Amino acid sequence: MNMGGQLYRLQQVELEIQEKRKVLTEVENSLQDDSALVEARDRLAAGEQSLTVTMKKQQDAEWEVGDLQDKKKQVNYKLYSGAIKNPKELSNLESELASLKSRTKEWEDELLELMTMVEDLEAAVSADSESLKDLQREWQERQVSLGRRKGELEVELVELEEARRGEVESIDSGALELYGLLKSTCGWAVARVERGKCQGCHIALPTGQWQKARSGEMVQCSNCGRILYLE
Ligand SMILES: [Zn+2]
Repeated sequence: MNMGGQLYRLQQVELEIQEKRKVLTEVENSLQDDSALVEARDRLAAGEQSLTVTMKKQQDAEWEVGDLQDKKKQVNYKLYSGAIKNPKELSNLESELASLKSRTKEWEDELLELMTMVEDLEAAVSADSESLKDLQREWQERQVSLGRRKGELEVELVELEEARRGEVESIDSGALELYGLLKSTCGWAVARVERGKCQGCHIALPTGQWQKARSGEMVQCSNCGRILYLE
């Protein structure tokens, strides 16, 4: 194989290593990314917290309504038992009863509202809890498949590194030095020649130049300086 071809092969292996390392990093990041789970857990916890607080309020309202009803009964009893005859006292009891009735009505309305809220919150918590379970299941499955992919990529990278070392060993040091220099200045060092044009800079090459490259000589593009390669 000619020098351009050898360096091109080295470049292909290095590009593949670069690409696989990029994918590996993405896979590793995905493996660590549990933000969707954390978000779902937080939402469920917040819902449960609201439910607890609202249930407590509902219980307080139930007690309040019960107390008011007891008081109403007592006042009713006093009012209609006939034991109290004093008109002033009776009139006081009547207004107390009226006030108790209106307060009971207020608390009953409050209680109804709280009961509706508790029902809604229970439904939301139950839905959030189901979706968290789904997410956890998906996450577990994803962890397994990503873990497998990570393992495959690591094996492939070891093989590619080995292939790279093999290529490097078969290329003389002068050519490697130029290759390294071009890589650092041009990003990639070897350009294919297609239809007489350097694929690094897309400039048409003098015929003699690409013919030399085809014959196996190491030739650099007269425009961009990349090492030319023709099959
Ligand atoms: Zn060029």
